[in-house]
Amino acid sequence: MTEQIRRVLVRSLDDITLEEVPAPVPGDDELLLRTTVVGVCGSDTHAAAGHHPFIDLPYRPGHEAVGVVAAAGKGAEDFAPGDRVIIEPNLYCGRCPQCRSGRYNICQELKVFGCQTPGAMADLFTIPADRVHRVPDGMTDIEAALVEPLATPVHAVAKAGDLTGRTVVVLGAGPIGLLVLAAARHAGAARIAVTDLLPGKRDRAQRLGADTALPADATDLADQAHAALGGPADVVFDCVAREQSIAQATDLVTKGGTIIVVGVGAAGTTPVRLDLIQDREIRIEGTLMYTGDDYRTAMSLISSGAIDTAEIVTATYPLEDAAKAFAASVDPEQVKVLVTVDGP
Ligand SMILES: [Zn+2]
Ligand SMILES: [Zn+2]
Repeated sequence: MTEQIRRVLVRSLDDITLEEVPAPVPGDDELLLRTTVVGVCGSDTHAAAGHHPFIDLPYRPGHEAVGVVAAAGKGAEDFAPGDRVIIEPNLYCGRCPQCRSGRYNICQELKVFGCQTPGAMADLFTIPADRVHRVPDGMTDIEAALVEPLATPVHAVAKAGDLTGRTVVVLGAGPIGLLVLAAARHAGAARIAVTDLLPGKRDRAQRLGADTALPADATDLADQAHAALGGPADVVFDCVAREQSIAQATDLVTKGGTIIVVGVGAAGTTPVRLDLIQDREIRIEGTLMYTGDDYRTAMSLISSGAIDTAEIVTATYPLEDAAKAFAASVDPEQVKVLVTVDGP
């Protein structure tokens, strides 16, 4: 009889259960991984609520995963049972122009492991061996679980160009905004203002090193930000991506400055002040996920101690309480909620 494993099945936010399925078997060039820690992402709660444009329900989540190699398929023998790895969940074609130029995060046929394929919120799962990175010695599994969430901000910050001595505004102090703050600081930003609606989240941003944290709904937000930064911002990271936040970004950024859209926008049309974009030579650029280079930067950032793990990881739940982990993740007072897996 084949071994049965537990795997999380999400039908809706109120219907998150464990399904029992046969243990997967690694194919050629694949690894069988035993999950140790897996994060709940904003995209997961978005998907569970039925709002994610690219994740159809029901689905099997888990793309921020740390695991231990249980078996290596043919061709994947570079890895041995017991090796600790994190997954890089972007599954790309390798053939399209974007892939061939190294920008496989925007592959024309991009799929995300654990979003469009069954994920790692399970006892065991299989994944191509080229989609994992070894966890450096000395990095805990909890720290390793933050590499994927940090890689997106690292990629976004790299898009903004050299931040040395620059002034920055981060709109939104959720998990991504807080990690953009850390990545921007690490990249040399001189002064950083963070905005959020909630005082608790603003306090956390300040504990994590923001020079100032401003209420996102202040009518004089631009004046307050200018006062704190000594003028309009060189770069604004919009981690909210709604009509109001892009209007604020346009207001806050300096002439010739850059707006990086990090948040997932609502489907459909969002108005922007095209007159100001043109007149002030403002650059607006989107950013999606990351590549392996961003993973390596994220790992070195975490290894350097630049990320206060205790401020970021605010709750952990065992796999059997995955529904509670999703519920907690919706709570705006939580930052990153993790699921730990101890085996069946
Ligand atoms: Zn994610
Ligand atoms: Zn491609």
